[in-house]
Amino acid sequence: MRKDASRSYSIVIPVYDEEKSLKELHRRLVAVMDELGGEFEIIFVDDGSRDGSFEVLRGIHETDGRVKIIQFRRNFGKSSALNAGFSEASGDVVLTIDADLQDLPEEIPLLVSELDNGYDLVSSWRHEREDTLSKRISSKLYNRVVSWLSGIGIRDFNSGLKCYRREVLDEIVISGGMHRYIPVLAAWKGFRVSQVKVRHRRRAHGVSKYGSGRMLKGFFDFLTAMMLTKYARRPFHIFGLIGFILVLIGLVINAYITVGWFFGKWIENRPILLLGVLLLIVGFQIVFFGLLCEIVTYSSDRDRFYSIKQKLNGHDG
Ligand code: UDP
Ligand code: MG
Repeated sequence: MRKDASRSYSIVIPVYDEEKSLKELHRRLVAVMDELGGEFEIIFVDDGSRDGSFEVLRGIHETDGRVKIIQFRRNFGKSSALNAGFSEASGDVVLTIDADLQDLPEEIPLLVSELDNGYDLVSSWRHEREDTLSKRISSKLYNRVVSWLSGIGIRDFNSGLKCYRREVLDEIVISGGMHRYIPVLAAWKGFRVSQVKVRHRRRAHGVSKYGSGRMLKGFFDFLTAMMLTKYARRPFHIFGLIGFILVLIGLVINAYITVGWFFGKWIENRPILLLGVLLLIVGFQIVFFGLLCEIVTYSSDRDRFYSIKQKLNGHDG
């Protein structure tokens, strides 16, 4: 483990009704960070907790000057909490960890040392998850699908323990449930992404904030992530393709019916006619929808769709 006294860390922690875990989390974090060397700050973002979390945080804040607290007016969700923390973070290296002690602060040095192996983002993989069986199974399936579709080798998208170089977060804005896909967005921008296996603990206090609805919502967010990366600059490529395929199937069906008609078969009593016509109409709609997206994308050029690593400017001699 490389110790670097000149380095600074920001640890961002989203908190939603976690009053019983906060003190122990703070104590263990400080021990780990002291050991790591360098400067650090801890940013707790209270995402509208209704229990005594904020009072506990205020107590921690009074005794430790390295602690910052952001309190939301109401619950805005984990992505927003992380985003608010990221804008406040001033460290060269930004870490995120859940507040419920399911992630172990003691694993932080492992993530940091992987970052030092030349990566910009290190995600964690809870390879022996301590959660209910249904959560483990649905999570495994979901991670497989997302990992395969995104083409990046991350095996555990929902894990809250992650480590970033500042530059990564300067370029990425998240909301909704997009925090899971920062690795996808970052990899697309050309940042080097890695993962390490970490230990995981059962929740000791409080309850999970996510039910089984997460998987479906998570998948929708994934589609958004794909749209934002692969197709944001060329929406017609995806809509055009889908529309084209539907039109093609519609044409084949209608051609088949027409040929039958030439040989004396009535068209009116063939239900497949409906399908053929439907596919043609819907297919054309999707094609034109894709073209419309192109126009919208073309005229809103505010976002940067590339990422600059460095610039070497001109000089004398
Ligand atoms: N969290 C949050 N806002 C929310 C939901 C969750 O800040 O709307 C925090 C929560 O306090 C915890 C982390 O996000 O620190 C992960 O939540 P949870 O432990 O409920 O998820 P699970 O471990 O069950 O996947
Ligand atoms: Mg948890």
